[in-house]
Amino acid sequence: MSKQYDVVIVGAGPAGYVAAIRCAQLGLKVACVDKWIGADNQPTLGGTCLNVGCIPSKALLESSARYDDINHSFADHGITASGVKLDLAKMMARKDKVVSDLTQGIVGLFKANGVQWIQGSGKLLPSQQVQVTAHDGAESVLDATHVILAPGSSSVEIGAAPLKGDVIVDSTGALEFTEVPKRLGVIGAGVIGLELGSVWRRLGSEVILLEAQEHFLPVADEQISKDALRQFKRQGLDIRLGARVVSCEAGNKGVVVQYQDGKGEHTETVDKIIVAVGRRPNTNGLAADETGLLLDEWGFVHVDEQCRTNLPSVYAIGDAVRGPMLAHKGSEEGMMVAEVIAGQKAEMNYDTIPSVVYTHPEIAWAGITEQALKAAGTEYNVGTFPFAASGRARAAGDSIGMVKVIADANTDRVLGVHIIGAHCSELIAQAVIAMEMGASSEDLAMTVFAHPTLAESVHEAALAVDGRAIHIPNKKKY
Ligand code: FAD
Ligand code: AMP
Repeated sequence: MSKQYDVVIVGAGPAGYVAAIRCAQLGLKVACVDKWIGADNQPTLGGTCLNVGCIPSKALLESSARYDDINHSFADHGITASGVKLDLAKMMARKDKVVSDLTQGIVGLFKANGVQWIQGSGKLLPSQQVQVTAHDGAESVLDATHVILAPGSSSVEIGAAPLKGDVIVDSTGALEFTEVPKRLGVIGAGVIGLELGSVWRRLGSEVILLEAQEHFLPVADEQISKDALRQFKRQGLDIRLGARVVSCEAGNKGVVVQYQDGKGEHTETVDKIIVAVGRRPNTNGLAADETGLLLDEWGFVHVDEQCRTNLPSVYAIGDAVRGPMLAHKGSEEGMMVAEVIAGQKAEMNYDTIPSVVYTHPEIAWAGITEQALKAAGTEYNVGTFPFAASGRARAAGDSIGMVKVIADANTDRVLGVHIIGAHCSELIAQAVIAMEMGASSEDLAMTVFAHPTLAESVHEAALAVDGRAIHIPNKKKY
């Protein structure tokens, strides 16, 4: 008997919906099951990324940056603004509209590509079947040749800070505050904690970030994370490292937070708390026990380099599998798996996946950090270029930060590019392309960049690898 669908996908976040569209492009009959209920109480597509992740956080980062600029940097440009007021409800409504426009866009793309959207919760059964429980409780079974699991992830909750209404919230609650908290505590100074802490600091909160680890942003290049810590502290973000939160008690006067650091136990009282201590894969109950779907010790679905699970014709992608929990990583896996299913030769390069922190300054990197190269004993050369020496950054009045290019000492191949500064979320793409093409720092140095642009700083950092940057004195002479 022929199967009902070529492919059934569980989850319509950036991993699942991209897989669905690519499968459909390749002529496969596709259904995508998703259980998300949006802010308007209606089923919606796009998962965490579009509804409560990348997009709403960037909408608020953008709006809050405008507010911060008008209050703090317009005067430098000779612009005086008076009577500036924050209309938080309008800012939130704008964010919600950005989200609904984009999620509706996915609905349109599903229609245009002939992807069947099935609303409800999916559970993997043996023999590539998926049981669907619709929102009204009705149950049905889909029969597929291939299944792609893309269930995403959820915020980790900790016993030290149980969520409570709009007072102790996770990242989703932090996108919904109806007033600016006077004193805001953030547990976890990872990417999400820093971005959300930045939004509310810009809008007027006094923000205290409590981070259990001694090292700030250890995933980034050490030189960059040290610079970032300095810049964030200068802006007024109160970042306390080595501070492990042990309890949060919400009462009439706010939340009493207890934390421990090397000096002992401390207490802080804040109006609200954002818990941003990481995310865990949504794999609980994802597959019936009799399928034998293999999970690792943290609950991620075990997959090979092409996202095949231990079960035949069952794949898993996105936040629910190993690798960085990033939207573009899941999307790329979605495309790869669709092509593998369609019988094409497909692979992806996990070594060049870019990471971005959308604070101000932004932080972006791709490839290997200097500390990792040192630990591995790899010989390398480094070129750095500060935005303070960039004409464009100076003209913009935003010249914090630098570009760092790391190249293999023997082959000159670019191994890593690390940037801190305005708009580096955009700049990092050129580094990714260079690394994907196996470029050397010499290749980047020989490329002509438009003037005046921030991108010229990547050119100069590549020149600096060989001691021949033009707009800074070089340590090493060519
Ligand atoms: P998700 O987006 O989580 O989607 C999974 C979907 O599957 C959901 O719709 C869910 O309802 C559905 N689902 C789960 N289980 C089932 C089931 N059993 N049946 C049916 N449906 C199911 N990443 C970036 O790259 N850049 C950023 O700037 C960025 N910012 C972020 C900001 C915040 C505040 C947060 C929380 C995350 C951010 N991320 C960012 C991370 C990004 O959102 C995730 O990496 C991405 O959404 C993962 O995609 P996914 O498709 O794997 O899962
Ligand atoms: P990320 O994994 O990038 O989302 O960052 C989450 C951060 O939260 C990590 O840096 C953790 O060290 C930090 N963290 C986890 N638990 C606690 C805690 N109880 N108190 C303070 N920080 C924590």
